[in-house]
Amino acid sequence: MQYRKYGKLGYEVSLLGVGCMRLPKIFDGSDKAKVDREKAYELLRYAADHGVTYFDTAFGYHHQTSEEVLGEALAEGGRRARVKIATKQPLMAMPQQSDIRRNLENTLKKLRTDYIDIYLIHNIQPGTWATVKERKLINEWEKFKAEGLIKAIGFSYHGDAGCFNKILWHYDWDMCQIQQNIVDVDMQAGEQGIIEAGHKGCACVIMEPLRGGGLATETKSVQALYDTHPIKRRAVEWAFRHLINYPQVSCILSGVSTLEQLKDNIEIFSAHDAVADCMSPSDKALIEKVRKHYQSVKSIPCTGCEYCLPCPNGVQIPGIFSTYNDAMSFENFDQPRRSYMFTQMAKQDASQCVECCQCEEKCPQHIKISEQLQTAHKKLKGWIE
Ligand code: SF4
Ligand code: SF4
Repeated sequence: MQYRKYGKLGYEVSLLGVGCMRLPKIFDGSDKAKVDREKAYELLRYAADHGVTYFDTAFGYHHQTSEEVLGEALAEGGRRARVKIATKQPLMAMPQQSDIRRNLENTLKKLRTDYIDIYLIHNIQPGTWATVKERKLINEWEKFKAEGLIKAIGFSYHGDAGCFNKILWHYDWDMCQIQQNIVDVDMQAGEQGIIEAGHKGCACVIMEPLRGGGLATETKSVQALYDTHPIKRRAVEWAFRHLINYPQVSCILSGVSTLEQLKDNIEIFSAHDAVADCMSPSDKALIEKVRKHYQSVKSIPCTGCEYCLPCPNGVQIPGIFSTYNDAMSFENFDQPRRSYMFTQMAKQDASQCVECCQCEEKCPQHIKISEQLQTAHKKLKGWIE
């Protein structure tokens, strides 16, 4: 496993971090699939026992159970002491000022720990930054730090680059967590955000490196592009190497859902050449070609985070976008249309959308969800058994 310095905090963390937003699930037909705890414990313990020292979770992940699952997984075998845990609280979970401390206390209980290594304000948006300041959240986080309940202060961000810079330079943050992958190089905080964080000595943690897993999918057209390169690598390896290349990045979060994915990720991040500045000019030119290809496919940039759920009308937003994107990437609509027919039978399809736009305020990718649902519906409807 490769390790990197964590900003100004001085310690090192594994370059691969495990994100706990996509843990293995049990699907019981409801729209609130539960974490498959046995599989999740096995996966998280395997990670902690095979060199991963960074785990990222949040108050809201997996219907507020992710922290508890992580806490249980790490409670035995001295694992908690060997790793760093990052977790987050969103503004919307703290409507009253008294919720701020109460939520932290609950989180500590769920994680079965006396302290949190990195405590983030979750998903600051340009529209919520003023409220974060008015509510003096940073001051509250500082009090927790002085009491030893948290060790470092950070934020996660999905807004535009201009506001990211404002927030980054507003305070002496220990870390920031931003989105970056081979397609979204200049989206949100962008590549420039990584460089700014590096200038500031602020640890930079990357989320959505595979854009919800989509960039690890080896479609024929993408693989054909990768195959033109003299060095043969799989899509997932190229996607991670694009990020490993940035010397300013301390940790790259992978939302693994299976033990096989985790083992594969560990192998990629343990390669002797998985180091900063590992991408040659011809590697970068290849990634540029792949990026242009993805941009031409016109997929919907949904990462499957589920922040938009539940829809009051039961629309299965991320499921529909994933079906549509699969159809577009694989250039084959038969199976996606059949699968969409079942969504229609369950009355969870795009035609149930009444354009209330509640979901759009919550989407970190700023997708015009109601509009894109209609795009997907037009392409996916019409399957007859
Ligand atoms: S806009 Fe449509 S999909 Fe979104 S919450 Fe409203 S009804 Fe549901
Ligand atoms: S539509 Fe947005 S909020 Fe919903 S799952 Fe996709 S990226 Fe997440």
